[in-house]
Amino acid sequence: MNISGFAAHKPKTLLKEFSYTGQLNPNDVLIQITHCGICHSDIHLIDNDWKISKYPFIPGHEVIGLVKGLGDGVEHLSEGQRVGVGWQAGACLNCEFCLQGDENCCSQNQPTCVGRNGGFAEHIIIDSRFAFPIPKKLESENAAPLLCAGITVYSPLAKFVRPKQKVGVIGIGGLGHLALQFARAYGCEIIAFSGSQDKKKEALSFGAHHFVSTKEINKTKESVDILLSTVSADIDWPKWLHVLRPNGKIIVLGASPSDIKVSPGVLIGGQKSIIGNNIGGRAMMVEMLNFAARHGIKAKTEVLPLAQVNKAIEKVRNNQARYRMVLKVR
Ligand code: NAP
Ligand code: ZN
Repeated sequence: MNISGFAAHKPKTLLKEFSYTGQLNPNDVLIQITHCGICHSDIHLIDNDWKISKYPFIPGHEVIGLVKGLGDGVEHLSEGQRVGVGWQAGACLNCEFCLQGDENCCSQNQPTCVGRNGGFAEHIIIDSRFAFPIPKKLESENAAPLLCAGITVYSPLAKFVRPKQKVGVIGIGGLGHLALQFARAYGCEIIAFSGSQDKKKEALSFGAHHFVSTKEINKTKESVDILLSTVSADIDWPKWLHVLRPNGKIIVLGASPSDIKVSPGVLIGGQKSIIGNNIGGRAMMVEMLNFAARHGIKAKTEVLPLAQVNKAIEKVRNNQARYRMVLKVR
C-alpha cells in the first residue's frame, strides 16, 4: 500500500512530502495514525547527530492510531483497536535480553525511524508485537508522548527509585515534565532543575516540590539520590555529581553530544554512579501506560496539524515547546 507523510532528505533541512510502499507481513499491523509526538530524538535523527540516519526517512516515534489491517499471524489485536508505537519497532524476541523483558537491549533492536519510516505520516506498518493497546482513560493527544518520553523516564524510576528518595530532574522539556509527574506519583521528593525560569510555576504543578535554576547550581544546597538528565546539550557532569547524595546515581537519558569526563575519585568517594538508560522493554511499556492511566499522568501538549510539521519541529529545536509538540494527523 502507498503511505504518505513528511520525510527528511538531508541533515538540518525542512521535511518534505514523501510517500513509500508498505507491505503487511504475517506478524504486522497496519495503523491509521491519528497523533504523533515530536521527540528531541527526531531532531537528532533529522540532523544525523548520531551518524545512523538513512535518508530519506519519515521521523516520528510517539505514534497513536487505529488498527486498520492485520497480518495473517496476528491474533492479539483487532480492527479498530487504538494502539501506540514508540522508539522500538522490532527485536529478535529470542535472545537472553528479549526473554528477560529487555527487548531494548537486543542486538537486533530495530528503531522505528532508522532504515524504516515513522509516524509523521498517515499510516505506519509495524511488527504487531511492538504495537501497544492504549488504556481507555488516556486521551490520544496527551498519551502519544508516553510512547517514548513516558517510557524513558518511567523505566529508570521503576528500576532504581524508592518512594523515600529525593529525585532531581535536569531539563524540563518533553521527557522532564513527564518525569516530574511520574516521580510525584511514586511518592518521591522532587527537585526540578531548569534553565528556563518561566517554567517554574508549571514545574511545580507537574509535581516538583522545589525549582532550582541550573544557572544557580553552584550555590544550591539541594542534594538528591537520583538525578535524571534529560538535556539534549552538554552539561557539566562533575558539577552535577556534587548534587548527588552518597550512593546517588545520575541517570543519563539525554543524548548530550560530548564525552562524559569525571575523575574516578568523585565516583568512589560517595559511591556515586552514572548510568545510561535506553527507553524500556515491552512489559515496562504496558506497566507504564497502566500506571499513567491510574495516576492521571498526561503530557502537556501543543497540537498542530501534520501539514505544519516543520513549524512544530522549529519550536522543539528552539526549546519553545510547552511541553511536547504533537502532530494531529486526522
Ligand atoms: P526537549 O523536549 O527538547 O527537552 C530537553 C530540555 O533540555 C529542554 O526543555 C531544556 O530544559 C533543556 N535544554 C535544551 N537545550 C539545552 C541547553 N543547550 N543547555 C541546557 N539545557 C538545555 O527534548 P526531549 O524530547 O525531552 O529529549 C531530551 C533528550 O533525551 C534528547 O537528547 C533525546 O534524544 C533524548 N532521549 C533519550 C531517550 C533514551 O532512551 N535515553 C529517549 C527519548 C529521548 P529547560 O528549559 O528546563 O532547561
Ligand atoms: Zn523519543
